[in-house]
Amino acid sequence: MTKVIDVELRGIMKKFQNNVVVQDFNLQVEQGEFISFLGPSGCGKTTTLNMIAGFLDPDGGDLLIKGQRMNGVPPYKRELGMVFQTYSLFPHMTVAENIAYGLKLRKIGKQEMQERVNRVLELVKLPNVADRYPKQLSGGQRQRIAIARALVIEPSLLLLDEPLSNLDAKLREELRDELKRLHQEIGVTTIFVTHDQEEALALSDRIVVLNHGFVEQIGTPHEIYNQPASEFVHTFIGKTNRMEGEVIATEGDTVTLRTTGGLLVQAAGQKHQFALQQKAVIFVRPEKIKLTEAADTAQPNRVKGHLQLASFLGSYTECEVATGAHTLSVKVQMSDKSAEQEAGKTVYCQWNAEDVLVMPVERG
Ligand code: ATP
Repeated sequence: MTKVIDVELRGIMKKFQNNVVVQDFNLQVEQGEFISFLGPSGCGKTTTLNMIAGFLDPDGGDLLIKGQRMNGVPPYKRELGMVFQTYSLFPHMTVAENIAYGLKLRKIGKQEMQERVNRVLELVKLPNVADRYPKQLSGGQRQRIAIARALVIEPSLLLLDEPLSNLDAKLREELRDELKRLHQEIGVTTIFVTHDQEEALALSDRIVVLNHGFVEQIGTPHEIYNQPASEFVHTFIGKTNRMEGEVIATEGDTVTLRTTGGLLVQAAGQKHQFALQQKAVIFVRPEKIKLTEAADTAQPNRVKGHLQLASFLGSYTECEVATGAHTLSVKVQMSDKSAEQEAGKTVYCQWNAEDVLVMPVERG
């Protein structure tokens, strides 16, 4: 089956005065895809979204929506639904009037308008609030209405700029699941801006990781998490242990290293080629390290330590283990028999070679 491309960015560049904030952005968004732009504050996520929406014009490159070049085409001609971080509902209009606003502009008849408003209210699971004013709704409800208002025009593309950021943790998670369900139900092509790794992982078909206006990596959540293209991607996407070391042996895709702290580490399944004595950075995720009562520390990936911190967090315990040169962060799942950890005791850390990621030291 040929895939349909809904949005295409070809070498997009944007600058403010002489400051280039988005550089050589290339992306093809397939019909029905849920894409996230993920990155730290100021990396160019919103600027790129605003170019797709038509609020900003690129200074270089081509932007295509459904195969048509859109550079210079105003937002209202793009048939997009957009939801922002702040609720941006009209305070003097009822929920129904807010949602119907875009339909009125499009001169949709009264009966169809009412039917469509009711349909999207059902879709966001708020069928009984049509006559209320925004101030009579909670933050989460307001954001659902903002989503309903974006969907009612049946947009070809839904753009979401940090729509969950203003909500508290629990509500955020609830609405995140809701967004996922909505997307599965209606399948509208969606671009979602966030600086929250978990949100991007949970929602996306593919994630675009941005840093300083550059695309670091485009991939599925699994690819981004397990096969990061750079140190930046790996460290941005979740907590990790970082050690520096030198390659002392290689065999096929297995690399053995000695860390600066004298620890022997072996890494299997590495995609980079390493030379003997090459300097490298080594990463092991906290959830990949096991704490045991005893281990043969002459073997690689095993080290004796002192448990100096154990924070019980419900489903897991976050531990900090001092091993001499390295302090390791370890996440112990509560299904694990040895789960009840107490600070002060001697423990052994061990992990599998398949769970180690080695990268050449980045230049610059
Ligand atoms: P955040 O998560 O904080 O919103 P972001 O990744 O969305 O960050 P952008 O808002 O796209 O980042 O901003 C990218 C860069 O462009 C930043 O350095 C910002 O200061 C700059 N910038 C954005 N808008 C303008 C503007 N209108 N004039 C000048 N500089 C701007």
